Amino acid sequence: MAGIYFHIPFCKTRCSYCDFFSSVSEEYIPKIIEAEIKELEFKKEYLNCETIETIYFGGGTPSFISENNIQQLLNSVYKNFKVCDNPEITIEVNPDDISSQKANSFFSFGINRVSMGTQSFNDDILKFLNRRHNSKQALKSIGILKQSGFKNISIDLIYGIPNLNNYEWEKTIDTALQLNIQHISAYHLSFEKGTKIHQQLKTKEIFALQDDDSVNQYNLLCKKLKNNSFEHYEISNFSLPEFNSKHNSSYWEGKKYGGIGPSSHSFNGNSRQWNVSDIEKYIKGVISNKGYFTKENLSLNQKYNEYILTRLRTNKGVSDKEILVNFGENILNHFLTEIKLLTNSNKVILTNNNNYSISEENWFISDGIIAQLCKI
Ligand code: SF4
Repeated sequence: MAGIYFHIPFCKTRCSYCDFFSSVSEEYIPKIIEAEIKELEFKKEYLNCETIETIYFGGGTPSFISENNIQQLLNSVYKNFKVCDNPEITIEVNPDDISSQKANSFFSFGINRVSMGTQSFNDDILKFLNRRHNSKQALKSIGILKQSGFKNISIDLIYGIPNLNNYEWEKTIDTALQLNIQHISAYHLSFEKGTKIHQQLKTKEIFALQDDDSVNQYNLLCKKLKNNSFEHYEISNFSLPEFNSKHNSSYWEGKKYGGIGPSSHSFNGNSRQWNVSDIEKYIKGVISNKGYFTKENLSLNQKYNEYILTRLRTNKGVSDKEILVNFGENILNHFLTEIKLLTNSNKVILTNNNNYSISEENWFISDGIIAQLCKI
């Protein structure tokens, strides 16, 4: 089983914090669709013709392009691959793009999961992030999606934002909980190089939140969502029972996936591929079937590091038995030495399945723990 990810690299305008690869030049849309359909054909061999169980339209802003384009891409998956019964098909949308017509079309294509870039229900914060929507539009769009039949809706939220106090953050969480949605992804704001907020930080126009405030906001989020029956199944992801993202979970479970479009990544168990982050080079490269991606075959140590890096992001954790079977005794010995130190300090705990996972209160500092277990 494998997943397909389509990167739709277009946005109406750029948000002030975002460093994802996307462009505001709409004239490239038809050529990108054509190239992505072609790239999908090439991916059959890379994915060893595996059956597809999840399809994900991400971006950029997939809801910015026409419904017809989305349908063309979706049809191309069915044309080239065997798709399982009831695949999970997700589309990322922005609140300002959602109309009843668009939502009805997506639902009629078989798309059964929507992930909405909501980020906040505070209009001042949304303005600071240079989002195109306000909180009223976000609430309205959730209503439209529900009316169209969607029963698996996720929203993205951002915390750790300059000037976001705990009271306002709690109000955003409470609003999200009143929506009766099934999934919430929440990320700490990061100041990526090249973004507007990175520049504002450098010139002292804005100041980062204190670490303690960030940790408090994360803890508040975890507590409130847990009290409302959400399972914290990955560092940044929470879902009601049975509603975790199958597509994103497949990344963390080390399943194969084919990333289509500029800047997309692919993985087939033995190698990784990165597509070029340039629209023109991508289109030219796909047409001539050369030079549009970089490939790296993974060594045993790299495969082990991938396993640690992805699985320790989740509450399933890692298993010493799997490490022995997949990576051998040498790597297992390294793992056991390091894991002993981490369990002694309660940073890592044993789960009910006898797996090792990072305790929830330490997920916020998981990078250091994961680095300790990786093998250089
Ligand atoms: S956050 Fe989303 S909508 Fe905003 S610029 Fe980035 S990809 Fe585009």
